[in-house]
Amino acid sequence: MPPKLIIVIPCYNEEEVLPITSRLFREELEGLIARSKVSPDSRILFVNDGSKDSTWEIIRGLSEECELFEGISQSRNRGHQNALLAGLMEVRDICDITISIDCDGQDDISAMERMVDEYLGGAEIVYGVRSARRTDTFFKRFTAQSFYRLLNGMGAEVVYNHADYRLVSSRVLKEFAGFREVNIFLRGMFPLVGFRSTCVYYERSERLAGKSHYPLSKMLSLAIDGITSLSIKPIRFITVMGIFVAILSFIGVIWSIVQYFLHNTIIGWSSTVSIICFIGGIQLISLGIIGEYIGKIYMETKARPRYIISERTFVRNEKD
Ligand code: UDP
Ligand code: MG
Repeated sequence: MPPKLIIVIPCYNEEEVLPITSRLFREELEGLIARSKVSPDSRILFVNDGSKDSTWEIIRGLSEECELFEGISQSRNRGHQNALLAGLMEVRDICDITISIDCDGQDDISAMERMVDEYLGGAEIVYGVRSARRTDTFFKRFTAQSFYRLLNGMGAEVVYNHADYRLVSSRVLKEFAGFREVNIFLRGMFPLVGFRSTCVYYERSERLAGKSHYPLSKMLSLAIDGITSLSIKPIRFITVMGIFVAILSFIGVIWSIVQYFLHNTIIGWSSTVSIICFIGGIQLISLGIIGEYIGKIYMETKARPRYIISERTFVRNEKD
């Protein structure tokens, strides 16, 4: 019996692209079913992330039109990561494998078959990795590459050029459900679950319609979240910096005393000011980083639900 696949697709204000890509997803899934790679009861689950346009109406329409489509809707917009998590948690007990993918058609949909093949070959997690970024603008490519370098340099283990296009087996998802944190950065968390994993390479193309929801500001906040929710390296870095500055100032103090006794006491104004600025800057950055972690602790102690589903296009069996 081939595995039951559920494709999980977060959607936020995607009315322009959904009618185009839903057809492509459907064709791909029908192909997989026809070739007996996945079971005929496989599904496509759209997660509406509190869209303000007609995305949810489109999803409902699709689910009425074709039984392969299903949808759940979040009670409000909570961001891509939480929408994806909601979808994955929704289906973890009713399928064998999930593939998560963005709904804009940027990720090569035909790579799904290779992912399923890797699963059939024994992998529990298959990371979709972009082999080229030719169609992205220089700016997007540069910021995205800096993003991965920064993440890895700061101790968050992520697969280079892997976003959230990924096959995950239900076995991994069941273990993953035990990761209870509220600050989630899925692509950095799945490597922590372990199990056998592998990569599938594909070329990323342009959005088929609509526009990106990840401007530089959101990318930066995703990077900061990624680092601070997975690693405490930045705090260690502050300590090292503190020790370094302390040694420097100790030398500085000795130097000034020596100058005093040598009667060379015409001390330059600029050196004083630059030292003050330097120390001030370091202190502010350090406070900022510590604040970031305290903020995380604050959110974790609240332990609020990570997603709230308000509507479904299907009736959920509560025993699931
Ligand atoms: N998305 C979401 N909630 C949000 C922002 C985005 O569910 O608050 C979805 C969006 O519909 C898309 C995916 O996350 O399916 C990736 O977003 P986008 O394509 O805008 O990002 P980019 O590919 O430009 O990084
Ligand atoms: Mg995109």
